Amino acid sequence: NLKVHFPLPGTLLKPKSGGSVKAVDGVSFHLNRGETLGLVGESGCGKSTTGMAVLRMTPVTAGEIHLEGNNITDLKGRSLRTLRRKMQMIYQDPFGALDPRMRVLDIIGEPLKVHNLVSGRKAYRAEVMRLMELVGLLPGMAERYPHEFSGGQRQRIGIARALAARPEVIICDEPVSALDVSIQAQIINLLKDLQEELGLTYLFVAHDLAVVRHICDRVMVMYLGHVVEVADSEELYTNPQHPYTQALLSAIPIPDPRAESRREVDPSIEGEVPSPVNPPSGCPFHPRCKHAMETCRTVAPELKDTTQGHAVSCHLYEPTSAAMPQIRVASM
Ligand code: SF4
Ligand code: MG
Repeated sequence: NLKVHFPLPGTLLKPKSGGSVKAVDGVSFHLNRGETLGLVGESGCGKSTTGMAVLRMTPVTAGEIHLEGNNITDLKGRSLRTLRRKMQMIYQDPFGALDPRMRVLDIIGEPLKVHNLVSGRKAYRAEVMRLMELVGLLPGMAERYPHEFSGGQRQRIGIARALAARPEVIICDEPVSALDVSIQAQIINLLKDLQEELGLTYLFVAHDLAVVRHICDRVMVMYLGHVVEVADSEELYTNPQHPYTQALLSAIPIPDPRAESRREVDPSIEGEVPSPVNPPSGCPFHPRCKHAMETCRTVAPELKDTTQGHAVSCHLYEPTSAAMPQIRVASM
């Protein structure tokens, strides 16, 4: 039930006075060891904020985060530093995330120093070389600066830097969105290989469903700070249930122009994502939903399993409330 609300400027001194951006508004999910969970939604839906909150890089307003059975929501000081080592982040913009005045050697090696993982200059260099090799960079590049590298290589540097701390969980925040399509697959494959080799667990944030299809075991779709659907990848792509997931899927371009013109579903989602300052009442998707009913305007749907491992938050899958708007009938 994770919530991350940011007070609006001007309300900082009087937080009780109201206005806040409800970036993440009651999100629950689990991440299994060794899996890749995709976190998908349009920009502003709260996916990056969810990732940052899990890493404890942004204050949590309410709810709890547990790692291996331990509540990590309020960790501070030394225990927070230990946690930071276990969980790392790979950023969307590989250039912005790298200090332009630092050599690759020091960019990748910084976490080794921060967490005291090697002692001595020689061991430090050897470890950086090992990391560079692991991500497919030539050790001879260690003395160069970020601007001397292509986008794909820069992302490899970012990955090596994340791996330096020997993490168990990595939040990948749109790690390929800023890259050329031809490079995207290379980076995705690298992340897959590293996961296998090192037993990593990924939370993989992306804004479209096409990218995550080949890397994720499960996919969770977010809309306006809420999880609207979660399922195994294959199940989600073949049997999407939430109208928003269906719209996202139908928006994936078909690479064959004839098939594209035969497309049956209108790929557009009407309107824009409403403001998370004043989210709509009831189902947050109702102003854009083609199936919206009276109930949808007033009653917020809950995330419920429709089949094993497939959960959706939509009144269409709750026959009782759809037939009798606003009347809740206890199920047997
Ligand atoms: Fe559409 Fe209603 Fe389902 Fe929301 S609850 S997605 S508005 S049908
Ligand atoms: Mg983002």
